[in-house]
Amino acid sequence: MIKIRLKYFFICFIIMLWSVLCFSSVGHSEIYKWTDENGTVHYSNVPPADQEVETLQERPINKADGSPPASQSETSSSNDSYSAYDIKNQIRSVEAKIKKCETEIVDCESDIEKYKQKIEELKKKQWDLPSHYKSHEEGEYYYRLKKGYEESIERYESYIKDRKQQIKENKLALMDLEDELKKLQRQETAITAEKKSSQAIVYHGNIKTHVFHQPGCQHYHCKDCIVKFSSREAAIRAGYRPCEICNP
Ligand SMILES: [Zn+2]
Repeated sequence: MIKIRLKYFFICFIIMLWSVLCFSSVGHSEIYKWTDENGTVHYSNVPPADQEVETLQERPINKADGSPPASQSETSSSNDSYSAYDIKNQIRSVEAKIKKCETEIVDCESDIEKYKQKIEELKKKQWDLPSHYKSHEEGEYYYRLKKGYEESIERYESYIKDRKQQIKENKLALMDLEDELKKLQRQETAITAEKKSSQAIVYHGNIKTHVFHQPGCQHYHCKDCIVKFSSREAAIRAGYRPCEICNP
C-alpha cells in the first residue's frame, strides 16, 4: 500500500517538474505575428519597430501562475524601438540647435552691417562740421557735437566687436553640433541596418498546405506562399511543418 502511494507521489512530482520546465521555456522565446501593408503575414522572434504585433503562445498559460506573458512581449517590443526613437529625438534636438546657431550668425551679420552703416553716417556728419567758428560759443557747440558723434561711433564699434565674438562662438558651437549630428546619424543608420538584418526573411510558408520552405526550394516562391518566417522555430510555432523536399 505504502509502496503504491510513494510511486504515485513520485509520478506527481515528475509531472510537476516537467510542467514547470515547459512553462519557463515558453517565456524565453516569444514569436511575434503581424501583417504588413501588402497583406503578407510575418512570424518572427524579433518584433517590428512600428507595428502592432500579436504574440504567439505555444500552449495556454497556467492561470494560477499569474504572470501574463503578453505584457512581457509588449515591454520588450517597446524597449527595442526605444533606442531608435531616442536617437531620432536627439537628432531633432541637435538640428534645432544648429538652426538656432545659424540664425544667430545671420542676425549678428545683419547687425554688423547696420552698425557699419551708422558709423559711416556719423563719420560723414563729423566731416561736414565747420572748421572755422564765428564765436567761442559756436566753437564749443560744435566741439560737443563732434564729441557726441565720436562717442556714438565708439559705441557702435563695440557693438560690432560683441557681434563678431558672438559669431565666433556660434561657429565653434556649430562645429561641435555638426560632429554630434554626424555621430547620431551614423548610430541611426546602424540601428536601421541591424533592424533590417534581424528582420531578414528566410522561410516562406504556404497558407493552404501549411508547409514552409527555405530559399532555393522549387516551392519557395509558390502562389500561396504569403507567410514569411524569420526562423524555423517561428514557422513550427505557427503550426507549419517543414517541406520534405528542401527540408528547412
Ligand atoms: Zn521546400
